[in-house]
Amino acid sequence: MEKIVVIATNNAHKVEEIRTALDFPGWRFVTLAECEPYPEPAEDADDFTGNAFIKAQAAHMHTGLAALADDSGLIVDALGGEPGVFSARYAGVHGDDAANNAKVLAGLEDVADDARTARFACALVFIDEDGTRTDAMGFIEGRIGHELRGSEGFGYDPLFLPDAFGQKKTLAEVGQDEKNAISHRGNALRALKAKLQTGLQ
Ligand code: IMP
Repeated sequence: MEKIVVIATNNAHKVEEIRTALDFPGWRFVTLAECEPYPEPAEDADDFTGNAFIKAQAAHMHTGLAALADDSGLIVDALGGEPGVFSARYAGVHGDDAANNAKVLAGLEDVADDARTARFACALVFIDEDGTRTDAMGFIEGRIGHELRGSEGFGYDPLFLPDAFGQKKTLAEVGQDEKNAISHRGNALRALKAKLQTGLQ
């Protein structure tokens, strides 16, 4: 039997990644664009999981379907954990990647390489048709570079030098598959898949 799952995002790039990762037989993913519109909930939780839950719950309540939402961001140790849940609007305007990256670089101006440690985090919340909730988290560790490098990806990718690449190239200097294999979202999706598989057996 077909199972329809709403992905509570308008980001086409995330939709594709989720579809590929959660390839359960009989599951069909739909996006918010394919659902009856409803007011966007305020993402005002103080952590990633809280915000993912707000989005998943809104999608589940308004559609009556199973729903999946993610929330993600960059955590820079020398900035006291910023930008954190404010990653998308760190410099004030939602989604202004250039300004956000410039603000991170400015904040780290006098910070030496070994203190520029950072990680991306991704929280996923899945709510099944019957309201059963399953959470998963994923991380990727690395360091913030001194300049923007690469043109792939989005957001803070051109600044982020993953440990997994020996801090030699940024996430914006590799293709999508190479990024997914080590990324916070990839890791969160693999963790969620494992949890759901256990529940499905
Ligand atoms: P959201 O999960 O779509 O709300 O993303 C929050 C923000 O975190 C994005 O706008 C980006 O600035 C940043 N971010 C999340 N994931 C990534 C990533 O994989 N690469 C670069 N930036 C990211």
